[in-house]
Amino acid sequence: MKVNVLGSGTSHGIPVVACFCPVCRSENPFDKRMRASIHITGEAGESIVIDTGPEFRLQAVRAGIERLDAVLLTHAHADHLHGLDDVRPLCRSVPLPVYSSDEILEEVRDRFSYVFKETQPGGGKPRLDLRKADPVIEIGSLRITSIPVKHGDLNILAWKIEEAGRPSLLYMTDTSAIPESSKSLAGKPGALIIGALRERPHETHFTFRQAMETALELAARRVWLTHICHEHSHNEIAGFCEDFIRERNLEGVGIAPAHDGLEIRL
Ligand SMILES: [Zn+2]
Ligand SMILES: [Zn+2]
Ligand SMILES: [Zn+2]
Repeated sequence: MKVNVLGSGTSHGIPVVACFCPVCRSENPFDKRMRASIHITGEAGESIVIDTGPEFRLQAVRAGIERLDAVLLTHAHADHLHGLDDVRPLCRSVPLPVYSSDEILEEVRDRFSYVFKETQPGGGKPRLDLRKADPVIEIGSLRITSIPVKHGDLNILAWKIEEAGRPSLLYMTDTSAIPESSKSLAGKPGALIIGALRERPHETHFTFRQAMETALELAARRVWLTHICHEHSHNEIAGFCEDFIRERNLEGVGIAPAHDGLEIRL
């Protein structure tokens, strides 16, 4: 399985419009972050994207995505959903399955109401097949589990992707708490990509430290922080991760900030 981080930024993206802070002005390409999303390719070419933010088109072109078997949605916030129309070229012949919870799909139906209405011929619309995520979905050889987590008061989904004989991937963005029953579903992820907004506390997102503590609690071995805001540069965050590893004496555990274009092989 190959994972491509399409975007690693918080809801604004970085640089933030009209912000001239050192991170938004940084020339380090790792400090340029599109909205958070990943693309997964299975051994048999299965192709799945988690979330379709406003930059989906740019991300798909950059990553060379040629086909999609499914979209998995974590939740319906604009930064995770509003690029959904741009899947159009990937669902011309067959409707594209979009998996999430009933509650989240209801919001998708509302936000993209024109897709599900009779409209004049000639108007291009994506062909979407909204499907309630059963606890486990199989796409080719990928086994996909939806895991309920909390984003403040909201119920959203983390996604676990498994492929036989390989370490599992857990993608858990925009999370502020994990219900006890979901911790066992998460298992011990081989790789964890986890939302970590900033150093200062936030009501609906883990801080860097909370995300790293959660990674330890889940016994993840390789960890990347994502959904990052502009308060710290990539290099500073890499330093926080190294300090945390040293402070906790974590041998054999890797923790680092993700960046757009990062490729992870599992
Ligand atoms: Zn978000
Ligand atoms: Zn800024
Ligand atoms: Zn959110």
